[in-house]
Amino acid sequence: MQVLQNYINGKWVSSQCAETRDVLNPATQEVLAKVPFGAATSKDLETAVLAAQEAYLGWKSVSVLKRIQPLFKLKQLLEENKEEITKLITLECGKTLAESAGEIQRAIENVEVACGAPMLMQSEFLENVATGIDEFMIRQPLGVTACIAPFNFPAMISFWFLPYAIATGNSMIIKPSEKVPLTMMKIFELIDKLDLPPGLLNLVHGGKETVDAILDHPLVKSISFVGSTPVAKYIYARGTANGKRVQAQGGAKNPVVILPDADIEVTSQIITDSVYGCAGQRCLAASVVITVDNDANIKEALYESAKKRQVGYGLESTVEMGPVITPESKERIETLIGKGLQEGGKLLLDGRNQAVSGYEKGNFIRPTIMEGLPLDGELIKTEIFGPVMTLVHMKNVDDAIDFINRGIYGNMACLFTTSGNSARKFRSEAMAGNIGINIGIAAPMAQFPFSGWKESFFGDLHGQGKHAIEFFTQTKVVVERWPKEWTRKF
Ligand code: NAD
Repeated sequence: MQVLQNYINGKWVSSQCAETRDVLNPATQEVLAKVPFGAATSKDLETAVLAAQEAYLGWKSVSVLKRIQPLFKLKQLLEENKEEITKLITLECGKTLAESAGEIQRAIENVEVACGAPMLMQSEFLENVATGIDEFMIRQPLGVTACIAPFNFPAMISFWFLPYAIATGNSMIIKPSEKVPLTMMKIFELIDKLDLPPGLLNLVHGGKETVDAILDHPLVKSISFVGSTPVAKYIYARGTANGKRVQAQGGAKNPVVILPDADIEVTSQIITDSVYGCAGQRCLAASVVITVDNDANIKEALYESAKKRQVGYGLESTVEMGPVITPESKERIETLIGKGLQEGGKLLLDGRNQAVSGYEKGNFIRPTIMEGLPLDGELIKTEIFGPVMTLVHMKNVDDAIDFINRGIYGNMACLFTTSGNSARKFRSEAMAGNIGINIGIAAPMAQFPFSGWKESFFGDLHGQGKHAIEFFTQTKVVVERWPKEWTRKF
């Protein structure tokens, strides 16, 4: 069985860590590869940081127009290899082929936006701040940067950071999730074909030990993390205590509100796509569905739409929902459903214990709908990260906004309505960083920041777009005087 190599200093190299962990296909439990995973991965990280520092020292002085040329080639290579990467994502992550293809598209769009660095990096200049004195601000790269990614988007998430980091003159180390390292291996095969200095982009496998080595290494200047909230908090605390710039995106519990004037058929379709897409393993998956007034009809429509979703192996073209990532994840989700029942919830649709024929070992949970959970209970605020919809009924949009604003997370909140007035109030008052109006997954396009709030984000500048350019550069302000009499001397 193949033990995955790291990509360090422009070469594929074996890890210095002998311990490994299996990479499993979540639909079949087939072992796809072995990934280095243990204390000695910190030695790999050390080698990668030294290579990245060396690469950065040269790269920072390369003209910005030259720095974006490899990105045009990367876009082309990603497009040419889209089919193969799509299949790899489905193989190791379980989502459907359409979902996998969608995430590569989002990755490519970030490459495209980062190609605007020659404009996006431009800054401010003011002549005569005092007579004969000019002042301007320039943006300079940070140095070695690092990205630590979660399992649920093996291709896309690193691209919220990677293209911007190198376009602005930094080097980067990518630490993919140990559960889905194969997609990034393939992408680094493509990166290897670019004309980049060795060490500019590095791939280092591992888990907590690799992460801790990133957090403590003095040459690592910034960390871009995406994952669960407890780990995001830890990364933010330890990274910033060590003087690094950190952006840490965390978990979510996303509410969606349906007003009585919403179109029931379209709305229920969009919401079930949001809840059950990627088997609920999206940080922007709708989770708590709040109906206002119109319970019975909407409940029926959501139930019908959820029940008919085709669950199975993502590589099969008719499948609409794949498995969850690991047997532990399946067990955790089923335990949480049980906890909801203990808290007084009732199941309208129970997706537990229903194997998929031909894939009995797969981590499948079918669409589940629960209602009647107490608003002050535990489950209503717990991120389930699985295909579970919680239905809640409220009197009006104000109560819904109050409920949303009391929540600890703030990744996304959505409203379905035909009233412009309600929409305007909601988008202004709901305390979440990404708002959807008649949208089920309010995922910002690459030009916009991925704006989590509250416990969904720790830091200041988010991933993507102009925020990424700012995150990966430090500003320097120059105040300059050139008196005539000095100039005459030369
Ligand atoms: P995770 O936090 O378990 O792992 C994320 C990364 O951190 C992985 O690379 C992992 O190796 C590393 N890691 C795990 N435990 C660690 C520890 N104790 N110390 C140091 N490093 C550690 O997250 P996951 O299960 O891979 O991903 C799912 C989570 O990510 C969900 O909570 C989801 O909401 C969140 N997520 C958030 C966003 C967002 O934009 N806010 C996007 C995608 C996923």
